[in-house]
Amino acid sequence: MAIPSYKVRLETNEPITPNVRKLVFRLEDPKTITYKQGQFVSFMLGTEDGRPIKRSYSIANMETDGVDSTYIEFVISYVEGGKASELFFNAEPGKEMEMTGPFGLLCLTEELPKRVFLVGTGTGVAPYRSMIEQMRTRTDTEFHILFGAQYLEDMFYLDDFKAVALLDHVHFHPCLSREEKPGCFSGYVQHKLAELNPNPETDIAYLCGNPNMVDEVFEMLKDKDFGVKQVKREKYVFSRF
Ligand SMILES: Cc1cc2nc3c(=O)[nH]c(=O)nc-3n(C[C@H](O)[C@H](O)[C@H](O)COP(=O)(O)OP(=O)(O)OC[C@H]3O[C@@H](n4cnc5c(N)ncnc54)[C@H](O)[C@@H]3O)c2cc1C
Repeated sequence: MAIPSYKVRLETNEPITPNVRKLVFRLEDPKTITYKQGQFVSFMLGTEDGRPIKRSYSIANMETDGVDSTYIEFVISYVEGGKASELFFNAEPGKEMEMTGPFGLLCLTEELPKRVFLVGTGTGVAPYRSMIEQMRTRTDTEFHILFGAQYLEDMFYLDDFKAVALLDHVHFHPCLSREEKPGCFSGYVQHKLAELNPNPETDIAYLCGNPNMVDEVFEMLKDKDFGVKQVKREKYVFSRF
């Protein structure tokens, strides 16, 4: 089956941390997209040397469902010298682009165990922001959102995560590796996760973002007897083209 492709138009492009911008695109043709919370899309981008490049970005929309959505929101971090980074960071509202998708399996399953750990570093929390409305209604499961960053100023969507964490069954753990701040864990997400005593009998984990973090946490969970199916992973690997 052909992969759906969409023409989208950039609506807003604003900095939300010193290194991350939030971009909102309006669907132009077709006018809507249906996706599952946790999925990503891929952009085909033109470059100066004429060779198109493909880059993927997680859908960060916070909606009750992903049916017939008319817009797509992304959070994109700047990579020094990165082709897509330059393009997105300098894109003006009104710019048209092509994207395909949605792709990916980092989605909440029908059946969930007692506890779900949602672990992300940097823009790797985008899929979890998209899952917020689902978390609200799935009251039989305890959710732990672990957001890792170096400094507090590198974090975003904090109001959304804190708001959902007002519910008894949702817990938000901001983790800072380079500074101490009230209300934040000092250290890496790995260390916070270890403190929560993950148990393969009762828990599953979702890992997203920096490939090294994903590998490290996966190894830690395997040492605690988690099976491959109990750890869902999305690595933000760099593209070779
Ligand atoms: C499934 C998936 C979902 C993704 N979702 C997001 C998302 O929601 N938000 C987001 O910001 N990114 C996301 N990414 C990463 C994104 O697709 C690009 O890889 C990223 O934007 C860098 O592209 P670029 O063209 O700017 O850099 P490139 O031109 O690809 O790279 C430039 C140079 O920087 C190096 N490099 C590339 N990325 C990094 C990095 N992160 N850290 C250090 N060095 C790097 C490369 O090796 C290269 O030397 C995702 C990736 C995948 C696979």
